[in-house]
Amino acid sequence: MITTDVENYPGFPDGVMGPELMEKFKAQAERFGTKIVHGFVNKVEMGARPFKVFVEGEPKFEAEGLIVATGAVAKLLEIPGERELMGYGVSACATCDGAFFKDQDVVIVGGGDTAMEEAQFLTRFAKKVTVIHRRDKFRASKVMADRTLNNPKIEVIWNTEVTEAIGKKPEKIGAEGGLTGVRIKNRESGETSVFPCDGFFVAIGHKPNTEIFDGQLKLEETGYLAVEKGSSRTSVEGVFACGDVQDSVYRQAVTAAGSGCMAAIDCERWLESQASH
Ligand code: NAP
Repeated sequence: MITTDVENYPGFPDGVMGPELMEKFKAQAERFGTKIVHGFVNKVEMGARPFKVFVEGEPKFEAEGLIVATGAVAKLLEIPGERELMGYGVSACATCDGAFFKDQDVVIVGGGDTAMEEAQFLTRFAKKVTVIHRRDKFRASKVMADRTLNNPKIEVIWNTEVTEAIGKKPEKIGAEGGLTGVRIKNRESGETSVFPCDGFFVAIGHKPNTEIFDGQLKLEETGYLAVEKGSSRTSVEGVFACGDVQDSVYRQAVTAAGSGCMAAIDCERWLESQASH
């Protein structure tokens, strides 16, 4: 819903905007009778069937089968200025916001494949990309790390933390303001300084949205929902999971959609098997 150009979803040779793709998904599902209800689910009881789904504290739905597709959110550094300037120079998604930084200087934090991929992507627009990493070695795969290290538009600052996003949130849209730089701290010398930049991208990983299932569904070591290999079955019979909440590896729209299809088939077959009992 929040991404801009989606270039790698099959069937769209010229690419498609994220929100437009979502509208199409919705219209297609509704054509087959899907009822769509908006609301925050903050509790699910899975101890016995039917499962109970609570929307804003109220038990709103009962279900024999349940598909979890709660996705994952980008992790933030939780430093001063980061949330305040989000959308005003700070971003957690280079693919969504990179194009706003044409010919500007941007900083990206992280040392994993996401940071490498996003740094690479940002060089399409930005004048200069600086990767700031807290250690002296990238966690990313060698091929991705080498691509970053060999890109003349990318500079790397090692052993350094970003401790503050500096700037002033504009009073209204279009008014003066926004990010002007980041405060950085060298982890070896302890020295701090201000690094001027127009954009600051946080790429330190994602967190699957599993809190509402705490203690009920088995998780992988990575914190993602555990599903049986090659299926969407979770540790609770009748509960299936699909999309990014159970995928720490691929996390693409097309793989999420494919796993959604798996969950629908698994759930339908499971319901049928229950009906014949
Ligand atoms: P990740 O591998 O967990 O890397 C997170 C990076 O952020 C690490 O370098 C970590 O530093 C750093 N970090 C975490 N918390 C931080 C903090 N508070 N302050 C500063 N730095 C912090 O996450 P990811 O890059 O999102 O990748 C997740 C998975 O998706 C991986 O399996 C990856 O291979 C996969 N992926 C693959 C591709 C691809 O192949 N095209 C693209 C994207 C993601 P440390 O290294 O010091 O821990």
